[in-house]
Amino acid sequence: MRWTRTLIPTLREDPQDAEIDSHKLMLRAGLIRKLSGGLYIFMPLGLRALKKVEAIVREEMDRAGALEILMPALQPAELWEKTGRLTTMGPGMFKLKDRQDRLLALGPTHEEVVTDLITREINSYRQLPCTVYQIQTKFRDEIRPRFGLMRAKEFIMKDAYSFDTSADAADISYQAMYDAYARLFTRCGLRVKPVEADTGAIGGKWSHEFMVMADSGEDAVIECTACSYAANVEKAERAVTVPAPCTACPVVEPVATPNTRTIEAVAAFLKVPAARIVKTVIFTADSKPVAALVPGDREVNEHKLLRILGAKTLERADDATVARVTGAPVGYAGPIGLTIPIYADQALENACDIIAGANAADTHLLHVCIGRDARVTAFCDLVNACEDDICPRCAKPLRLTRGIEVGHVFKLGTKYTEAFDSRYLNEAGKAEIMIMGCYGIGVTRTLQAIIEQCHDANGIVWPASVAPYAVALLSLDPKDESVRTAVANLERQLESNGIDVLVDDRDDRPGVKFKDADLVGFPFRVVVGAKSLAKGCVELKRRSGGDSELIPIETAAVRIGQAVAEARAALNPVSAN
Ligand code: ATP
Ligand code: MG
Repeated sequence: MRWTRTLIPTLREDPQDAEIDSHKLMLRAGLIRKLSGGLYIFMPLGLRALKKVEAIVREEMDRAGALEILMPALQPAELWEKTGRLTTMGPGMFKLKDRQDRLLALGPTHEEVVTDLITREINSYRQLPCTVYQIQTKFRDEIRPRFGLMRAKEFIMKDAYSFDTSADAADISYQAMYDAYARLFTRCGLRVKPVEADTGAIGGKWSHEFMVMADSGEDAVIECTACSYAANVEKAERAVTVPAPCTACPVVEPVATPNTRTIEAVAAFLKVPAARIVKTVIFTADSKPVAALVPGDREVNEHKLLRILGAKTLERADDATVARVTGAPVGYAGPIGLTIPIYADQALENACDIIAGANAADTHLLHVCIGRDARVTAFCDLVNACEDDICPRCAKPLRLTRGIEVGHVFKLGTKYTEAFDSRYLNEAGKAEIMIMGCYGIGVTRTLQAIIEQCHDANGIVWPASVAPYAVALLSLDPKDESVRTAVANLERQLESNGIDVLVDDRDDRPGVKFKDADLVGFPFRVVVGAKSLAKGCVELKRRSGGDSELIPIETAAVRIGQAVAEARAALNPVSAN
């Protein structure tokens, strides 16, 4: 391909509305253009790279035994009513009506459609296990579309769904997808970290997000400084040492704390650190009140509380409920004397001589011993893990970092198959519910995450597997007959060896061509100029670094071909085996 015949609108300056490097670079390198908020157009180079990412995803899905299908983006709303998600998805789902006034949704995901399909098409254990996948456009009315392709309203996802006869079989399907993800992200040149993720109300331990660690990531991740433990902050656990029960704590003593409705106010008034105060938060879980106790310097993790309670809904109690259950205005709740269930964070077990609300206006209690004075229903993990907490696996310190979620594997159990009554006949002819898993990859987000991880001050540094073209062939003197011939020959030879090459044939200064080649980030740059050609040579340089080398024109195609093949093979764990 010739630069003058394609459309690569590179920009010198950073675009105004792009905040993170990868978004700036996608615009500057002419890979994408914005249509409007959260909607982007793929330009020729961007589309080439996207297709390469898609091809890698497809190959690894096929290798893992998943079957490619293609479901419509437009979905009847009745399917979403079956699972209750027409309501619970809320305004995040784009809805529209057809001319018969039937309600439709633009699919934000496809669990409903695929479960309906499999329920109709699979009825025997002989047809299971079955994993299907598609690479398709999804629609989500995100509250805050931003960072270009990272959080868009319309994006391309690879979504796969597995159906199995038993929990053990479902584990195997899950592991196959997990392994495929690890392989395909490596092949895309990405370093990813699988982190344990929250499974929400569905329960179970079985969810991992694949994170590209980056300061610009929207997800907070807790990782161990020593071992491989890593989890989304919503899910991360910490080890806690419970002290021995106290024996010598003074008796509880009320203290006047006027106008101290927050932990900060109590801490300032009594001149104690927040951690010495217990925070008592009243919730309503499935409309029944419960109390959560956490150390005063921590927040209640509502995902964890919801899971522990096994409740469908959880919200902070309103002021009237707080007043009814505590007998006091908001701000003075405490565990002593409450008659509702009390769930306390594990760090409070045997907590001794601490301060708590008195369930009376403008009053707190000193010398509270949780074990002695409060009637706690259960001690459990109720807070987010923080920097410097202790790793639950190896007892070394944890740290807080950030990541971009590029993929998500999720063991769903029977949530959807029960809603659709998806049954198969087992060997004994008995109808059993299928066990399901779902597995997503943000394909367009992955493309941008590659740039977020692979760039330098001069531009993108594409991994060879996904670069829009492996080689940029710079013709420095396009008017020189011998240069033109050498470039055309080399282009032909490389292309016939299966190497994609973009010839920069623009009538521009060399400086412009070098800058653009660096900005777009082709893995290999080959320069053909009258001066070096007079010595029978062309110049080869890698975008990832190192000196340029002069190579004889006669063997240039072979040498470049080898270099590209090596760079591609280095990223492919499968070809190395
Ligand atoms: P997030 O937490 O980032 O909103 P999610 O957990 O809602 O994502 P999933 O439903 O797990 O997303 O979707 C599978 C994958 O699709 C995600 O791992 C992510 O890579 C991608 N994805 C989700 N939402 C978007 C979006 N708005 N724009 C681009 N990619 C997205
Ligand atoms: Mg997710």
